[in-house]
Amino acid sequence: MPDCIFCKIATGEIPSYKIYEDDDFFAFLDIQPVNPGHALVIPKKHYENLLDIPQNILCEMMGVVQKLSKTITEVLNAPGFNIGINNKKIAGQSFFHLHVHIMPRFEGDGYKLWPGKVKSKEELQKIADKIKNSL
Ligand code: AMP
Ligand code: ZN
Repeated sequence: MPDCIFCKIATGEIPSYKIYEDDDFFAFLDIQPVNPGHALVIPKKHYENLLDIPQNILCEMMGVVQKLSKTITEVLNAPGFNIGINNKKIAGQSFFHLHVHIMPRFEGDGYKLWPGKVKSKEELQKIADKIKNSL
C-alpha cells in the first residue's frame, strides 16, 4: 500500500512515538490522544479493517493489545480503558489500515458511553433472528 501512512509508520519510514514492535505488529502513541497513553496497535501487513485480517493473525494481535493495555494502564495509573476499532468511514475510520485504539480512562475525563436506544421486544427478536439465520 504505497500511500498508507500506517504502513510507513510500521516500517519506520514515517516517525512515530513507538511503544512496541515484533515481527508482525507495531504499536505507537496516537498523535491526538483522547487521554494520555492512547495508543494504536497495527498489523505490519496492510489490512483495511477487521473483516480483512485473517482470524489467526487477529487473535495474535489481540494478545499484543492485551499485553500493552496492561502496561499502559499500570504505567499511567489508569483505573480503566476502552478498546476501539472503527471500521469504515461511517463508523469514524479515517485511516484505512486496521488499528486498535487502546484508550486509558481516568476519573472525570468527561467521556461517556454510547447512548442506547430503547427498542421493542419484537424489533430486538427480529434482528436477533436475522443475524442468527445468516451465520
Ligand atoms: P480512526 O479514526 O479510527 O481511523 O483513527 C485514526 C487515528 O490515527 C486518530 O486517532 C489519529 O489521531 C491517529 N493518527 C493519525 N495520524 C497519526 C500519526 N502519524 N501518528 C499517530 N497517530 C496518528
Ligand atoms: Zn497500510
